[in-house]
Amino acid sequence: MQLNQRQKAIVDIVKENEPITGEKIAELLQLTRAALRSDLVVLTMLGVLDAKPKVGYFYIGHSEPSQEYNLFKEMHVSQIMGVPLTVHQNDSVHDVIVQIFMEDTGGGFVLDQDGYLVGLVSRKDLLKASIGGGDLTKLPIGVIMTRFPNITTVLEEELVLEAAEKLVTRQVDSLPVVRPGKDGRLKVVGKFSKTIITRLFLEIKE
Ligand code: ADP
Repeated sequence: MQLNQRQKAIVDIVKENEPITGEKIAELLQLTRAALRSDLVVLTMLGVLDAKPKVGYFYIGHSEPSQEYNLFKEMHVSQIMGVPLTVHQNDSVHDVIVQIFMEDTGGGFVLDQDGYLVGLVSRKDLLKASIGGGDLTKLPIGVIMTRFPNITTVLEEELVLEAAEKLVTRQVDSLPVVRPGKDGRLKVVGKFSKTIITRLFLEIKE
């Protein structure tokens, strides 16, 4: 795997200054620690750098990607997707809010009467509806949802890396995992989210 310019700059800094903290690397590159986080994760997963808590980063420089990285690179969405909260387009906004609390989730996928995907709602959509001032027990979720086809979806057989890229480029928290029917309509079979991918990172590390 080719390192990008910034990753190469990080490696050079670590080689010269090891052990060095993430904060110090960020300072030398005049970037925020947050901006460097994903590069540092990639370099540690690739086995180029090693991180010791409270000490900092060391250069180890393995040219072969680590086993963890290979595992991650080949993983498919179906292997880690979660169970989605699905609601009906005629359900009231009030009922969907209650369901979101009961299921402890961040949003829901909205289905039509035949069980196909027609939209989705996130926390922000529900907050927006709530400050609108109407009667939330009478307002159907179908009125406020982000509507199909303006929805970014992912297929079960897509790579986790591709799905993660969609989350980042579209700036959303979750994607419906879908299975297309013969008529082009989509059945929801799962959910892919930032929480799920964060959990995967921890599991791989363990
Ligand atoms: P939050 O509301 O917590 O910021 P998101 O960033 O996921 O959560 O949602 C922001 C906006 O993007 C909302 O209007 C939501 O309906 C929409 N949205 C969320 N997920 C998707 C998706 N997969 N495809 C298209 N739009 C989405």
